[in-house]
Amino acid sequence: MVKREKYMAKNYRAELVGVFGNPVDENPTGVMEEAAFAAKGLNYRYLTIKVLEKDLAPAMQAVRIFGMRGINLTIPHKVSVLPYLDELTEAAEIIGAVNTVINEKNRLIGENTDGKGFLAALGDEGVPVRNKKILILGAGGAARAIAVECALAGADRITIVNRNTGRGKELAELIKNRTGAQSHYLRWNHPVTIPPETEILINATSIGLFPDVNSKPDIDYDSISADMVVSDVVFNDPHTLFLQEAEKRGAGSVNGLGMLAHQGALNFKLWTGTEAPLAVMESVLKKEFGLI
Ligand code: NDP
Repeated sequence: MVKREKYMAKNYRAELVGVFGNPVDENPTGVMEEAAFAAKGLNYRYLTIKVLEKDLAPAMQAVRIFGMRGINLTIPHKVSVLPYLDELTEAAEIIGAVNTVINEKNRLIGENTDGKGFLAALGDEGVPVRNKKILILGAGGAARAIAVECALAGADRITIVNRNTGRGKELAELIKNRTGAQSHYLRWNHPVTIPPETEILINATSIGLFPDVNSKPDIDYDSISADMVVSDVVFNDPHTLFLQEAEKRGAGSVNGLGMLAHQGALNFKLWTGTEAPLAVMESVLKKEFGLI
């Protein structure tokens, strides 16, 4: 005879997480998170969901109704999600954008793991940001997250170079007023000369992102020196022309895949309470991008 209690104890309900965005079809995060859940034997599902700008309110309501453990936000929802949240972490509040929501007993907490993922990827290469002079190309979402986290982690000075002057100046002011780091805006002359005291140079623009793989930021590449570390947030294709030019000048290079894997690992930990299998996540991404 079949023992009834055995079946009563089983849980067939998966914990749900995912991403809301538009466009979102090409977002590779789901493959990486699903592989990580499988590696850790967790019954979680990561759903890649197209949510139009006008539908964010009911979508966030659905996070509560479905009891989802959390959700990632990507274009165009990272800022517009703020009114639907109950709480923000310090970094998310300063950045003014959220890429990850954690549902703690129906309290929705907004966090931003983009900059933290970036710092972890630099850390993997033995590059701390404390006391460093950093130059960031860009002032969009990724640049804001990276600038704020570098400043909170003790960077000495953060120079912002951006095509749109208003956005660039606003980010430099934010860093100056809300963190302990010095910051100023440098106009994007064509090409930009990288000041020689720069220790870490970051491309946080979308220049070079697929299908625009033959483009690179308009800077004077001969102003990059061998003692600089140069990093790119673009992960598709990860070996960008920007990084190739920096490598030709002998600079150390850190590509965008590490940041992507690390922010995914941080999200995994926030949602599951379990340490993420980072090596699994990195290798899945490399496979997705045809690197192994
Ligand atoms: P945003 O749209 O918020 O910002 C885009 C930035 O790029 C702006 O500063 C914009 O300048 C600049 N830009 C775009 N085109 C040009 C151009 N032709 N010349 C000069 N500047 C330009 O995008 P995000 O910040 O969200 O994303 C930026 C990149 O970061 C994307 O490639 C994205 O894939 C990547 N990313 C990578 C992550 C990772 O884990 N590796 C995580 C998150 C993002 P302006 O203000 O003048 O318009």
